[in-house]
Amino acid sequence: MTSGARAEIVVDLAAIRHNVRRLREIAADSLDPGVEPPKMMTVVKADGYGHGVTEVSRAAREGGADWLGAATLEEALAVRDGGDTGPLLCWLTVPGDHWGAAIERDIDVTAYSLVELAEIEAAAERLSVAARVQLKVDTGLTRGGCPAELWPALVAECRAAELRGTLRITGIWSHLACADEPDHPANDSQEKVFLEALDVARQAGLRPEVRHLANSAATVLRPSVRFDMVRCGIATYGLDPAPGVTRDLGLVPAMTVRAPLAMVKSAPAGTSVSYGHTWTADVDTRLGLVPVGYAEGLPRVAANKVEVWLNGKRRPERGIICMDQFMIDLGDDEAHEGDLVEIFGTGHDGAPTALDWARAAGTINYEVVTRIGGRLHRVHVDSERGRG
Ligand SMILES: *Cc1c(COP(=O)(O)O)cnc(C)c1O
Repeated sequence: MTSGARAEIVVDLAAIRHNVRRLREIAADSLDPGVEPPKMMTVVKADGYGHGVTEVSRAAREGGADWLGAATLEEALAVRDGGDTGPLLCWLTVPGDHWGAAIERDIDVTAYSLVELAEIEAAAERLSVAARVQLKVDTGLTRGGCPAELWPALVAECRAAELRGTLRITGIWSHLACADEPDHPANDSQEKVFLEALDVARQAGLRPEVRHLANSAATVLRPSVRFDMVRCGIATYGLDPAPGVTRDLGLVPAMTVRAPLAMVKSAPAGTSVSYGHTWTADVDTRLGLVPVGYAEGLPRVAANKVEVWLNGKRRPERGIICMDQFMIDLGDDEAHEGDLVEIFGTGHDGAPTALDWARAAGTINYEVVTRIGGRLHRVHVDSERGRG
């Protein structure tokens, strides 16, 4: 343990740097000769997918991130508060958001509609600076973004605003619905709608610096949608964006969650474990108590399906995962209070990963790492620079 015997999240910043470098290589792969490799945006929303936004932002820049991306404006401001001064985009604003703060701190905001555009322009006029605005077009995800039928009016108004000097359209982008399923017809369809939207914008006179469509999965699986920039979130953290579809990407999971064994006890055959007695020992065994639960973000539905790592072996979880704790089966093996339990991590030696927990819980690796927190202490280490 890096900080005494307590449950903690350990984030290796060397892994983040490595993954960003590796993703840049992947994004530059199999391009036609003379084609410039796309820029890299590292997505640091949701506190850097649970890894710590300030530390991840810094490591990502060191690994070669040209841009950082956040969902909310508050998150983007947190990136700035952490000392980052580079290109930065956010995309999930609400009416009445602090547009002025975004403009003053050189954050690109995303507009989906004329209403938003008017608010951004008003803030820019008050500050007498041109706001940096990117436009999101809905190409078929059917979430945020300008519907295709309203797109011509939006880009026309943006061009007029550029000429008034209130804003500059710095980017045009969209987001894919099925990038982790490369054969899904939505990918072709969204790419086509995006190209049409770019064409309409061009005819209206817009000349954005960056056009972008790819998330992690598309960066890896669909070279045709890399455009000027790719936006990588999950893969930055070393997690597979399309399990079962991708080849080995050479990424390293950055997050390890671990805790000391709090107690060891014997469980004779017939002993039932935890709330509801959902598991009963059929032979004599020994059980260990792990002091981490669903309050720390572990999925309760993974109970009796998931495994953790202790003393060089996988150990099955037994009984319901409680708010603060769960039990594991030690069998006949020697184990002591204070021994370190790795709940999930890099997958070294076959140890459990966030993906294993996701599968046990019927969800995706994104949700597992993003929810982890609660009372866990988060520490940042750097395996290349000898810290931690
Ligand atoms: C979260 C997000 C990403 C990153 O997606 P990953 O699948 O984690 O790479 C990219 N773009 C937008 C708009 C997002 O919301």
